Amino acid sequence: MRILLVEDEIKLANAVKRALEFQKYTVDVANDGRLGLDLAIGEKYDLIILDLMLPGYTGLQICTNLRAEKISTPVLILTAKGQIDDKIIGLDSGADDYMVKPFSFEELFARIRSLVRRATNSDDNILTVDNLSLNTVTFKVTRGKTHINLSSKEFAILEYLLRHIGSVVTKDQIVQSVWNYDTDILPSTIEVHINHLRHKIDAPFKTKLIHTVRGFGYEIKV
Ligand code: CA
Repeated sequence: MRILLVEDEIKLANAVKRALEFQKYTVDVANDGRLGLDLAIGEKYDLIILDLMLPGYTGLQICTNLRAEKISTPVLILTAKGQIDDKIIGLDSGADDYMVKPFSFEELFARIRSLVRRATNSDDNILTVDNLSLNTVTFKVTRGKTHINLSSKEFAILEYLLRHIGSVVTKDQIVQSVWNYDTDILPSTIEVHINHLRHKIDAPFKTKLIHTVRGFGYEIKV
């Protein structure tokens, strides 16, 4: 799950990034409006968290631009402004939700989950295949009765595969969903992570779930 955070207060941006990464999200940060808009248009995100008062472009300009470009990524506005007018303008510009600073991380996480749920048309926090289940709220992964400990990248890759059950996902799609925009990832790095994941979720069990589709990528299925 990949999130873009556009926030010019460096301290706050770093704190939110750390908290989100701890929740196993991949987070790109833009400290000004121009980079924010560039990334929001050029990269693929599951959610954009947008401050309103920014150098370069304002949050509202970014949001309006995105919607004009037909980019429908959920946008959560995060701002110190608590005035009712600002909320209305924010939501009218195409934002999906609004939070006023200071906020609690717990509330931020809950709103993120709700926006992502709405965007993926899934009411369910639990993604499953066979007897494997991944809980996107508690971040627990189990196979049968066995609890499985995954690194944040392994978790993110497994979540991506499970959200695309029924289709083959390419290494490129995995990179775009799981890694930061400024990281160079070799295909072999994906293979290493997939191997670790297989070692944990497939090797100890009877049925193999992660399948390599030669020349294309991976598919998760029974
Ligand atoms: Ca600001």
